[in-house]
Amino acid sequence: MKDVQTRVEEVLSLVHKRNPGEAEFHQAVREVVETLEPVLEKHPEYGEHKIIERICEPERQIIFRVPWQDDNGEVQINRGFRVGFNSALGPYKGGLRFHPSVYLGTIKFLGFEQTFKNALSGMPIGGGKGGADFDPKGKSDAEVMRFCQSFMTELYRHIGEMTDVPAGDIGVSGRELGYLFGQYKRITNRYESGVLTGKSPEWGGALVRREATGYGAVFFAQDMLRARGDDLAGKTCVVSGAGNVAIYAIEKLQALGARVVACSDSSGFVFHAQGLQLATIKQLKEVERLRIASYVEHHPDAEYHARGNIWSVPCQVALPCATQNELDEAAARQLIANGCIAVSEGANMPTTPDGIKLFLEAKLAYGPGKAANAGGVATSALEMQQNASRDRWSFEYTEQRLRNIMRSIHDDCWTTASEYGQQGNYVLGANIVAFQRLAEAMLALGII
Ligand code: GLU
Repeated sequence: MKDVQTRVEEVLSLVHKRNPGEAEFHQAVREVVETLEPVLEKHPEYGEHKIIERICEPERQIIFRVPWQDDNGEVQINRGFRVGFNSALGPYKGGLRFHPSVYLGTIKFLGFEQTFKNALSGMPIGGGKGGADFDPKGKSDAEVMRFCQSFMTELYRHIGEMTDVPAGDIGVSGRELGYLFGQYKRITNRYESGVLTGKSPEWGGALVRREATGYGAVFFAQDMLRARGDDLAGKTCVVSGAGNVAIYAIEKLQALGARVVACSDSSGFVFHAQGLQLATIKQLKEVERLRIASYVEHHPDAEYHARGNIWSVPCQVALPCATQNELDEAAARQLIANGCIAVSEGANMPTTPDGIKLFLEAKLAYGPGKAANAGGVATSALEMQQNASRDRWSFEYTEQRLRNIMRSIHDDCWTTASEYGQQGNYVLGANIVAFQRLAEAMLALGII
């Protein structure tokens, strides 16, 4: 038997060789695999059955052409993706990202993260992810509809409530999911609600799904603080992003008595010392689809910093809710120097490996995305449950379910990290809990 360290190095070099140039995927795999040595020592059977090697190789990868016509009648061509990463625990589950930067490496990193996150959530869902290099920014509703219809015209044959259940991610929310579901329904002649989640509650969606990722990240922050005898009331917070995750993180932080002083979009950030006015942000982003810069037109006492670094704003609690690698080593250092005590990730892989290292060394409460933002996909699983039973749950009941799920995720990570002698290390806890659930299921299902 090879020693565990050699095995880990071999896995990483194989992933590099098989997936050349896919830097984010390499990063996501390395972050997980490096923490698994103690569990591999304890369970040689995982090594014998090549569990990690199998987890790192997606079960299926689909790439397809998405042709559509813009409002000027010109033909446009995008590339669509769906990666079914792992179905040991349930049908593939994970969102679709529409963003010009999307390529196969983005989808694989997200699918890999999703597989672990979904296992950690404790819900019966596998991991998958998809998307396209389509930029919804500046497109008319009609263009978005034609794109979504073309995208689904290929995707429909690969998905299904028992097979693969997509949802939203960056660039895909209620509007896009509506067009996607409409086309699926038309092609298949089935009102198969459970084939997509994140649907509007008016036609088959679940209450709380829209809020769930942001609320969940705040609940996770609350639990991390509680474990240290502290809470969110009165804390100064910074939330990066201004999309679906950020908006509902801000909403819950404010409801719990925290003061959120800054948020951002890809052009810059807004600082409002007295606390952000959420109604303005919702109007700008959800209704008018404008840039966050417009916020200061409504609140002249706020400041807008074009291209500025939001992590330079002093805060006690930080929630990165924008995108991958948005918080680097310098930003982490600045947050620590400014007295930040907790970081809860609403986005997927927002902190770079060097940034994570600093957070762990400083022993601040750091909740990695797989744990902290699992509330979104967990509530998607609740939406699947409602669809399967043709039921509708109240907002209060669903939110309570979400609250309990986040508490369990926190406690599972906490207990496991302590068992492995690393109390408070949620990175280690999250990776080991998720990996063991996947490994046990994969062992039971045989070599498939
Ligand atoms: N895209 C979200 C995530 O990163 C949600 C996926 C889902 O609800 O299926 O977890």
